[in-house]
Amino acid sequence: MTHPAGPLPSPWPRSVIDQLLWPGLPGPQGQQMLALTAQLQLAEWWTPEALERAQLAQLDALVRHAGTHVPYYAKRLRRWKVDTSVPLTWEAFRRIPVLKRAEVQRAGESLYASATPPAHGRVGSAQTSGSSGRPVTLMKTELTLLLWRAVTLRDHLWHRRDMMAPTCHIRETGGLRAPPPDGATHATWGSAAEDAFQTGPSHTLSVTADIASQARWIAARKPRYLLVYPSGLRGLLDHWEATGTAPRGIEQVRTISETLRPELRDRVQSVLGARLVDLYSSQEVGYIALQCPDHAHYHVQSETIHVEVLREDGEPCAPGEAGRVVVTPLHHFGTPLLRYEIGDGAEVGPPCPCGRGLPVLTRVLGRIRHMLHFPDGRKVWPTFAVGRFVKLAPIRQWRIVQVALDHLELHLCTTRPVTPEEEQAVVRSILDKLGHPFRVTVIYRPEGIPSGANGKYEDFLCAIDPDA
Ligand SMILES: [Zn+2]
Repeated sequence: MTHPAGPLPSPWPRSVIDQLLWPGLPGPQGQQMLALTAQLQLAEWWTPEALERAQLAQLDALVRHAGTHVPYYAKRLRRWKVDTSVPLTWEAFRRIPVLKRAEVQRAGESLYASATPPAHGRVGSAQTSGSSGRPVTLMKTELTLLLWRAVTLRDHLWHRRDMMAPTCHIRETGGLRAPPPDGATHATWGSAAEDAFQTGPSHTLSVTADIASQARWIAARKPRYLLVYPSGLRGLLDHWEATGTAPRGIEQVRTISETLRPELRDRVQSVLGARLVDLYSSQEVGYIALQCPDHAHYHVQSETIHVEVLREDGEPCAPGEAGRVVVTPLHHFGTPLLRYEIGDGAEVGPPCPCGRGLPVLTRVLGRIRHMLHFPDGRKVWPTFAVGRFVKLAPIRQWRIVQVALDHLELHLCTTRPVTPEEEQAVVRSILDKLGHPFRVTVIYRPEGIPSGANGKYEDFLCAIDPDA
């Protein structure tokens, strides 16, 4: 944005007061956003203990509400000896059993609150497909959406984005919106940013566009920021490398929705000269963790969600340990979810050197039902030396499916037929990394390997888990 004084700093306020340019005062919605933003900027520096005390205060209100207005919880909380007539303690909170997705489906409308605080705004339903294809419908208030927007804005601010610059989003758009070749253009960065700040345009393209159309679309719009799914990003990087047409001027690539394999960070740096910024969210509960402004790991968004990472025995993981993610969104009064097992795994990290007290997740590991099972009973989130094995053959897309305890299928889509030697080298590289001599069947998928019903691409699937 320019002014006789020269280009103005970003973020620049959207002021509604005559003759007041800076500091600005936005309208009521923008003021709400700034009020929340100011508190997030204070709370992120609190100690972990202070953050926990603040969470417990909010959880107390939520659990009390659940006990009073949510049929599912009314009788169960008594059975679990969670007394809502006295202040909530962590001990009482942890007596609430972990809630699984299948239970949420069984409970149906008995999880909906019969009433919500009027000041939380209107209640609307949100259907989520879930990666297992078992849909769940949750009720959300306008307040949950407001807090969701506040965390979206925090992500922009943490990563110092110039909100006047153009941004491009390639994502699931629902139905026929933003179709190729042109997608759709919006004058602003959307409601999270525009209420409080001046922004440039955002462009959206449906993820159903083929990679070449996506690349053309990006080239024509010259974005400074690009938001994509990791699987789509991999396709774009392959395309740009193969054709030597990597666009210039992209500063940050933002990934959402799917599990990010770390090697993509280096590829984004080497192909685009850009930084990759990931985030961890879910359709059901919104933001769980954002990438630290200074490091490649994630900070739990403690102001809006309580996150536990639990070992197999139900105890919390220590730094360095990985376990299942159990969340309690602090402000979901429409459909309270207390200690909800979201189905993902994550690894807990030590406190962040940046000084923020928000807990650290070192890695988000993907769906629990897609852990690799070893014949000796061990289960792990598999890592593959992707950077290495995709160089051993002209691999465009890959997926590994565990079909039996000792048997993997390797699905490959390649740019030309693969020689037996190449195939062998790829299989050996995968088995070396896994450290076990699984039997591997290679299946060629020249038509490409599809994403799941929810639009997410999983590069590893376990087809033998009884819960799957
Ligand atoms: Zn940090």
